Amino acid sequence: MKKEISSVENDALQQNIENESTTTNTFDYDESKDYILRVRNLKQYFPISKSMFGKVEAYLKAVDGVSFNLERGKTIGIVGESGCGKTTLGRTILRLYDITEGSAIYTDDNGKEYELATLKRKELQPLRTELQLVFQDPYSSLPPRMTVGAIISEAVRVHNVVPKEEVHDYVLNVMKRCGLQPHYYDRYPHEFSGGQRQRICIARALAVKPKLVICDEPVSALDVSIQAQVINLLKKLQREEGISYMFISHDLSVVKYISDTIAVMYLGNIVEMGTAADICTEPKHPYTQALFSAVPVPNPHRKAEPEMLDGELPSPANPPKGCKFHTRCKHCMAICEENAPEMREISKGHFVSCHLFDNEEK
Ligand code: SF4
Repeated sequence: MKKEISSVENDALQQNIENESTTTNTFDYDESKDYILRVRNLKQYFPISKSMFGKVEAYLKAVDGVSFNLERGKTIGIVGESGCGKTTLGRTILRLYDITEGSAIYTDDNGKEYELATLKRKELQPLRTELQLVFQDPYSSLPPRMTVGAIISEAVRVHNVVPKEEVHDYVLNVMKRCGLQPHYYDRYPHEFSGGQRQRICIARALAVKPKLVICDEPVSALDVSIQAQVINLLKKLQREEGISYMFISHDLSVVKYISDTIAVMYLGNIVEMGTAADICTEPKHPYTQALFSAVPVPNPHRKAEPEMLDGELPSPANPPKGCKFHTRCKHCMAICEENAPEMREISKGHFVSCHLFDNEEK
């Protein structure tokens, strides 16, 4: 689904943006580190209603000012409930939608920077092999009338990844690295299980030598034992190829196994971000704590005690004023209903957006 915003809509949007105070997500970045992706205050608003004169009156704020850095060869996990904006964030970075506002800078292996927010479609074309997407549903994302070999070869040929006469052997090699037998080359997707289909999807993405892969719920449709195999495959490929991942999932127990950094999203904003160890062992934001309380504990003597969140996720078309989480937060204070909290670094690399930490900035 592509979205174009007309100039009239854009004017209304700017006014809308200026009139609103949203949570500020500000992250410094370390000049000494090699970042493949730097995202700043990224917004993706979809117009949802217009006046009789065609002026846009309301927007669905799917992504509402997101900032983070991703180091080359590392993984950032983006986690949150369905509808929090994590999938839209991934697709916005890949420019499957035109970016409403903000910046997403991709830096290639040679240090050349590309501002994805402003690149024209034609200028984006050469980057399409470097930036890849692995979809959630391995059943519908593979063309049913093409063989596995043809599916993986297609992009290799289109992008001239290797000389024509080497494509067959190259594809067999990619398949082998993804745990696919050579005789699968001439088979069709319907002949495979969900886990094998996801391996085919990963092989298709890997075949064009990507640098950054956005994995959108890549294991959600799979059995737990198959999930582990696919995660291990992604980790192995990362070690071998130095690929960077943005791993989107609603499942914290999966995200924590693959991520170096975890960002927790709620209603279009990142509410907490830190190393996987920080977020998993010391979650600070009440929303992160509630998410973690529902993660099964691998200890027969300890029982997980899920903390029930009050109410439903509010609509991103009409988010609550102040802290967007205040309608469901058991720690809600008067200030939370009025003012959006700022993102604060409470310990090195651990950021939280919550008024409980207003005086704890490091
Ligand atoms: Fe809860 Fe207030 Fe923190 Fe929001 S800012 S998470 S409402 S305590």
